[in-house]
Amino acid sequence: MTRTDLFGMTAGEIAAAVAPYGLEKYRGRQLATWLYQRHVRDFAAMTDLPVKAREVLAAHFTAGTVTVRAEQHAADGATSKFLLALADGLAVETVLMVHDYGSSVCVSTQVGCAMGCAFCASTLRGVERDLTAGEILAQALYADEYLRRRGAGVNSLVIMGSGEPLANYDNVVKFIRLCHEPYCLGLSYRGVTLSTAGVVPGIDRLAAEGLPVTLAISLHAPDDELRTRLMPVNRTWPLAAVLAAGDRYAAATGRRVTYEYALIAGVNDGDAQAAALAALLKGRLANVNLIPVNAVPERGLLRPDAARVKRFLAVLTAGRVNATVRREMGSDISAACGQLRHAVLAAEERRE
Ligand code: SAH
Repeated sequence: MTRTDLFGMTAGEIAAAVAPYGLEKYRGRQLATWLYQRHVRDFAAMTDLPVKAREVLAAHFTAGTVTVRAEQHAADGATSKFLLALADGLAVETVLMVHDYGSSVCVSTQVGCAMGCAFCASTLRGVERDLTAGEILAQALYADEYLRRRGAGVNSLVIMGSGEPLANYDNVVKFIRLCHEPYCLGLSYRGVTLSTAGVVPGIDRLAAEGLPVTLAISLHAPDDELRTRLMPVNRTWPLAAVLAAGDRYAAATGRRVTYEYALIAGVNDGDAQAAALAALLKGRLANVNLIPVNAVPERGLLRPDAARVKRFLAVLTAGRVNATVRREMGSDISAACGQLRHAVLAAEERRE
């Protein structure tokens, strides 16, 4: 007999799932609190439930199936990376960043990615499958559990790991709503950032969802020719369509849109490109996040030197565009998208 996994359900869904076994409605919230706040996944240890109920639960349900396969902790102590194994043996990455102002977790939404961006390690093997809401939640909660042992907890979320979140829309939105629940992480929607390669219909759907999350759009080039070379998705939704969707999102939510721009030496980091980017974004409710590219040896892409990054930023600022350079964390632990997973899988293949 296959058991139903409760992990990833809302309290209401848990209540409905366990009702046929005679558990009262309020048990839904009680179980959700054990799973999502107390990080207990063994029904026998849920001591405020009657022993009989615990036995029934263990016979018919599971409480999460994700396990940790590898962990790396950066020398700075502020960045950790977890490689989590899913029930079917596939693996996903989660990154935890501890800042002065709180902790942020970067979750993956798919195993691999179909987007095919030229600089990204997540997409090297294509997409294998979407993650369920529970599998995405398990990543955030594993990081939370790790922090709880150190007297802290997760304060914000970035949906920027492997995968295209808007290509797995329903599971991602369910995950975001779960994280907001008081019986789960109780996160404010404003503490959630979702990053997309520019899937326009998904951006519009999210704008109508009534969740004031921060939208980040990966731009990486100021013109269609270069953007198509770096991001094949630009053929479907070119720059003008993506920027118009960003404006609609800003208008619907009142939230400033973040445009991500990975600086790649000699490819998209020139003064003229900075000026073109400034011209595109001027007057929009937007921020630019400059990310010196994490070199992917397979693709031969390099990051510009610090002087070039500074100069690119200065041109944007002079063009009246809000811009910041992303602080570098965890580069000694292959924290860039998809790099740990890729390294572990490649090592296993070499062993075979
Ligand atoms: N699919 C989504 C979210 C995942 S990628 C998206 O495209 O936005 C999260 C961010 O990391 C994106 O801006 C992506 O372009 C960027 N990224 C991927 N590989 C990178 C690399 N090697 N160096 C710097 N940024 C990278």
